[in-house]
Amino acid sequence: MVSSETIDLLKEELPVEQESLFVSGDVKTGLVIVDVVNGFCTVGAGNLAPTMPDKQISGMVDETLRLATVFCDNKWPVFAFLDSHHPDIPEHPYPPHCIAGTDESKLVPALQWLENEPNVTLRCKDCIDGFLGSIEKDGSNVFVDWVKTNQIKVILVVGICTDICVLDFVCSALSARNRGFLTPLEDVIVYSHACATFDLPAHVARNIKGIAHPQELMHHVGLYMAKRRGAKVVSQVSF
Ligand SMILES: [Zn+2]
Repeated sequence: MVSSETIDLLKEELPVEQESLFVSGDVKTGLVIVDVVNGFCTVGAGNLAPTMPDKQISGMVDETLRLATVFCDNKWPVFAFLDSHHPDIPEHPYPPHCIAGTDESKLVPALQWLENEPNVTLRCKDCIDGFLGSIEKDGSNVFVDWVKTNQIKVILVVGICTDICVLDFVCSALSARNRGFLTPLEDVIVYSHACATFDLPAHVARNIKGIAHPQELMHHVGLYMAKRRGAKVVSQVSF
């Protein structure tokens, strides 16, 4: 187990300053929800789901629900990625997870109502990076089209895992923005309390020959890397 002293030291050496965000209808803001599906969030729902109730993950779901509710009440645009894999195509180095058509690749129960909201775009993706997962066979990109169609200036990114799917998507969106593919997008903002990652402490990983992934530490590293790459990180979102 990583001691709290180690985490404090890491936070001191790799500080992530976090601002507050006030969302109003004045600046066109889109909510991007990354993989808040059963296979990553619901206890016992598969190989990559938590094995017991997890405070960071349940807090992330609660905050995602709060934001999604306000966005839908206002008919503001929401884009939700659903990790979704063909059973015969594994995603190394992960065990089989979120197989298409199973409950694992469905939104968590608290968010399933989003499937019926007209302002919500759902996108199944079979890779870690949702930006790449949005590319269609003809080369078009569903996420890019969503930004342009809705004239989005700010994306607010939430979901799981802070340091994997959220981070990869954020990095790609920033590069695409910098190359002029996402006009009029200006800001990519990560909301820390609506992000979470999984917990695989080093002593457990050793026993199963897995890659260690201590939750609190890797959540912080994910936020740090997002900030390092040019995203804003906020610890509060109000409306
Ligand atoms: Zn996956």
